[in-house]
Amino acid sequence: MSDENTKSDYRSAIIGLLVAAALLGAFIWRLPVNGWGSLLWFAVMAGMSIIRIPHEQKAKKLATNETRQGRVENLLLLGVTLGAALIPAIHLATGLFGFADYPVPAHWPFLGLLLAAPGLWLFYRSHADLGKNWSVSLEIRKDHGLITHGVYSRIRHPMYTAIFLLYTAQAVFIHNWIAGLSGLMTFGLMYLIRAPIEEAMMREQFGQAYDEYCSGTGRLWPKLSK
Ligand code: SAH
Repeated sequence: MSDENTKSDYRSAIIGLLVAAALLGAFIWRLPVNGWGSLLWFAVMAGMSIIRIPHEQKAKKLATNETRQGRVENLLLLGVTLGAALIPAIHLATGLFGFADYPVPAHWPFLGLLLAAPGLWLFYRSHADLGKNWSVSLEIRKDHGLITHGVYSRIRHPMYTAIFLLYTAQAVFIHNWIAGLSGLMTFGLMYLIRAPIEEAMMREQFGQAYDEYCSGTGRLWPKLSK
């Protein structure tokens, strides 16, 4: 990697850490209004970033044969960034959508951990099993292989299952109709549009092998009888 790239990676890392520290400070300040869910949400976002960043770094160095990243895909990715990161972060730090808050018992947000813990595990395992075939958008890498082992052996989209679990946890952590549900809404829309395009791309690339793989797997939920 060139010196310029390394410098810009360091710059992004420092900016990222400063933003995270400022947010954490604001969340602690506003803890009496937002409750413990805000800190649990922060911890989950930090966990997702720690899992994903090394894969993003590796992916930068890999060659791509084909990409389906068009304007719709870019808009959907922007929507998910807004719904799952910016809207909740801004709301928890400033109370912007406070008019849409609803009351919950103090310990209610801890129930979100029952979704977030398996969600983070599955997020980690799906990145590990997909390896160099992972990309944030829809891409076929040079030497792309069809992964059918590990968490891919019974579910075709385990990473999306993980994200659904984690954004449902967001809805439990943040007791606000807008900032709680925005992750689930934007990712749900992205999933509905993206999954069929992704499966068509995989079918074009792997043909009958992909059809056979589909017949033994579920989309988001394991197919128990093969
Ligand atoms: N939909 C998958 C992967 C998300 S990452 C999941 O939810 O786990 C998106 C990239 O993964 C796509 O560009 C596609 O090329 C690649 N991909 C998806 N399923 C794959 C598989 N079984 N084997 C190899 N690559 C796969």
